[in-house]
Amino acid sequence: MLNVHKVKQEICEIGDRLYKKGFAAANDGNISYRISEKEVVCTPTLISKGFMKPDDLCIVDMEGKQLSGRRERTSEVMLHLAIMKERPEVKSVVHCHPPHATAFGVAREPVPQCVLPEVEIFLGEVPITKYATPGSREFADTILPFVHKANIIILANHGTVSFAETLEKAYWWTEILDAYCRILLLAKGLGRVNYFSEPEAAALLQLKEKLGFHDPRTEMKNCDICANDVFRESWKETGVEPKAFQPPRFTCTTAAEAAPAEQETLIQAITDRVMAVLR
Ligand SMILES: [Zn+2]
Repeated sequence: MLNVHKVKQEICEIGDRLYKKGFAAANDGNISYRISEKEVVCTPTLISKGFMKPDDLCIVDMEGKQLSGRRERTSEVMLHLAIMKERPEVKSVVHCHPPHATAFGVAREPVPQCVLPEVEIFLGEVPITKYATPGSREFADTILPFVHKANIIILANHGTVSFAETLEKAYWWTEILDAYCRILLLAKGLGRVNYFSEPEAAALLQLKEKLGFHDPRTEMKNCDICANDVFRESWKETGVEPKAFQPPRFTCTTAAEAAPAEQETLIQAITDRVMAVLR
């Protein structure tokens, strides 16, 4: 039988790690774990994640109604429950505000692919939601278009939410993403980001499938695995647009989509040559 006290202890330990990593300032962030079909342990509102005791935690039902605990449950538990309802295998959800990953959500910059092997294997493409007021029903629903295709989601102008069958793994995805976003920003500061070639990227996706991780990029036909194609259709609604990072496009989803970019480069090259002659 599941030891609920042990689950609560583990949530406190993960909270401590979130706080020490700087992923949850003041009382930011919340953590949950599903202990039965109808019950979820979650963190309370207004508490530092670095100083929680098992006794501080709450138990809610799948609609967010508090069943036990002396403190009031976090209002953001609705986000956790929305994920758990969509993904029955998910037991744990971690939400926090890791600065480097959150920066991508503030800039609405898609996280580029094909840079680090571990990120390709464990995360793949990371979607960014549209913004909604935290704690609202609408806010919880912003993850719905992405929840089946990712294990971590960036919440626009807010933070991240990651989920898995264990607490430890749900935490890992956040740690991997924030470390990655930090490296991207540092490399960008050095002036150059090198991306994998198409065969290098394809080899990593093969390895990923072998290791038992599914990647939605493999379902897409003629899709460039480095070009952020999986969530591209959501960008219009979410205001996401690549500005800082431009991964190479090897082959394109449609010829029509590729043509304008190629034409633009060509036009620019011709303009440059003409201008040079004129000078
Ligand atoms: Zn939050």
